[in-house]
Amino acid sequence: MNTAVETIDGLCGRLARYLEDDEIRQVKRAYLYSEQAHDGQKRRSGHPYIIHPLQVAEILADMRMDHQSLMAAMLHDVIEDTGITKDALENQFGEAVANLVDGVSKLTHINFETHAEAQAENFQKMTLAMARDIRVIIVKLADRLHNMRTLGSLNPEKQRRIARETLDIFSPIANRLGMYELRSELQALAYRAMYPMRIERIERAVLKASGNRKKIVSEILESLTDALERAGIKTRTEGRGKAANSIYRKMRDQRKSFSDIMDVYAFRIITDSADDCYRVLGVVHNLYKPKPGRFKDYIAIPKGNGYQSLHTTLFGMHGVPVEIQIRTSEMDALASGGIAAHWLYKEGSDDIAAVQRTNRWVKGLLEIQQRAGSSLEFIENVKIDLFPDDIYIFTPKGKIMELPTGSTAVDFAYAVHTDIGNGCVACRIDKALAPLSTILQSGQTVEIVISKYAKPNLAWLSFAVTGKARSAIRHMLKNQQRSESVNLGQQLLGRALENLGTNLDQVTEQQQNLLISERKFPEFDDLLEDIGLGNRIAYSVARSLLPNADLTPGMLSQSTDARPLAIKGSEGLVTSYAKCCRPIPGDPCVGHISKGRGLVIHHATCNNISDIRDDSEKCVPLAWDEDLQGEFYTALKILVEAETGIIALIASAVSDANAAIDRINREERDAKTSVIILKVGVRDRKHLAQVVRSMRRIKSVTKISRIRA
Ligand code: MN
Repeated sequence: MNTAVETIDGLCGRLARYLEDDEIRQVKRAYLYSEQAHDGQKRRSGHPYIIHPLQVAEILADMRMDHQSLMAAMLHDVIEDTGITKDALENQFGEAVANLVDGVSKLTHINFETHAEAQAENFQKMTLAMARDIRVIIVKLADRLHNMRTLGSLNPEKQRRIARETLDIFSPIANRLGMYELRSELQALAYRAMYPMRIERIERAVLKASGNRKKIVSEILESLTDALERAGIKTRTEGRGKAANSIYRKMRDQRKSFSDIMDVYAFRIITDSADDCYRVLGVVHNLYKPKPGRFKDYIAIPKGNGYQSLHTTLFGMHGVPVEIQIRTSEMDALASGGIAAHWLYKEGSDDIAAVQRTNRWVKGLLEIQQRAGSSLEFIENVKIDLFPDDIYIFTPKGKIMELPTGSTAVDFAYAVHTDIGNGCVACRIDKALAPLSTILQSGQTVEIVISKYAKPNLAWLSFAVTGKARSAIRHMLKNQQRSESVNLGQQLLGRALENLGTNLDQVTEQQQNLLISERKFPEFDDLLEDIGLGNRIAYSVARSLLPNADLTPGMLSQSTDARPLAIKGSEGLVTSYAKCCRPIPGDPCVGHISKGRGLVIHHATCNNISDIRDDSEKCVPLAWDEDLQGEFYTALKILVEAETGIIALIASAVSDANAAIDRINREERDAKTSVIILKVGVRDRKHLAQVVRSMRRIKSVTKISRIRA
């Protein structure tokens, strides 16, 4: 498989075995494009760069991958190394190939080296999550295999790092996809780079031992073949050698001696059908005594990656252990190629979605499973591996956070720490500022901007998806509402007391305690909260605090002179602006203490409060704070003569006056006139007047008025 440097024409010759002429031409075109793009670049080995993509394509051709994968292999480093864009590739080679190249480039971008080994599992999952099209992974694995084959030209330290990464990330991925042959080679190369001396020593020992083993191997082989021939089953039997790296691993992990491992003889028997596999099993169990507990039926119950085979261990002649694998040639092809062998290259065409292709692969597994007639569990595992419901996000320090798909920056902030979530005001996704509601994608690096004064926002609940974020936001809002209600209750009670000729400071603790024990409140703050929420009337509380106060009508009538409550503009949870009249700073206004909702601010002339405006138990006079900031929304009714494009004219008049449009609706009144309802955000009345003036300049506008219920 480790072919010598081949030319593109040589490769095309080999492709003719399984691809159409047109497909081969496209592969060649991708090669020529890439050759030109990489012109002048060299590999560390000194070879022209194009040799690398060409040989990656060869690895894929050995797996008989489709022409699009081969084209992607030719182009896989073009975006990364030559500054040619994805769009340019799409124009040249179509969307499917451009997406593959882009996917491979993105995987390259993930900086594996800086991350701890403990995160390897997450990296594997992330790699799978990032590749919508499973071919991206296969091309990436081929890329990695070629880099491992040519590792020798790097310095030893870099070799070890890449080898480690190969063992931690790529070889487990190959295993998940059932690509054993590729995985074995990756592992062998990685171990050689990491433990060169030890591997060499083992290889020498294997060579020495194989002389002694030869005789026993051929004896066992002969008796196996004889027995199978006598039973009349068509089979091919081969001995299996052991790779130095797997011997090393067994010695290290299973604490076995070299001779323990070398004294096991391994064979593989390939036959035609699953039925024959079981017949072969009968024959070999009849020939040598099976070792109890070692038989595994992966035909009836395939492994999670689709691997099928029968495994058994026998006591051979002289009692030597003999390991046998029995499978059909189809199973054998799948066992070495895995997902790549499942590839339906003949059906490949540009318009078949990648996901559909992968689904087909999973369906293929499902069929195997149904034929085998056992649980569906392994299919679920495969699905989870290939279509994870999770995304993987980096913190700025390179730690990986696992979040459910659909998570936003707010979810991420809370996942990092509750304090980060509570304090977040903005975020940077891959260094660019983005709204907190942005839905995150696997592989992004997210940095949260926090402020000491920030508070969770009610609106976050409309996009936060994780339980942790949602419960933390609710908890904070509840606390926030509590402190706002207590504060408002205190102001309302203070004002009521002032009208009775006293103030809160003069109320003794004794009076407070008496009242809260009467009303069964645990604390005075609970009483204030109840007032703030509008459940309790400040005046009656004030009176019960001062049972002996002078309650002459004259005193009460002073209420209108009392200092009004100030509206600070920061719309809180217990203060809100009435939707019926939409007051803005500058408007005369009145606060309605609404049961359970706190203080609702109305325009003083709003019809909805006209009956209760003077009821000092239900309404309080309000004044706008001097230096108010923010945007306040109000609604206008605009009468216009029919004109096309009037909505656009109004919209531009509003933005000329630097105001924000929240909504704009048009209702036909008759053939000549229309009514436009405009919801607009302004700083105050003065600003609104500017907006109105700006709109009056439009000829067809005949009348503008505020909407009040
Ligand atoms: Mn590469």
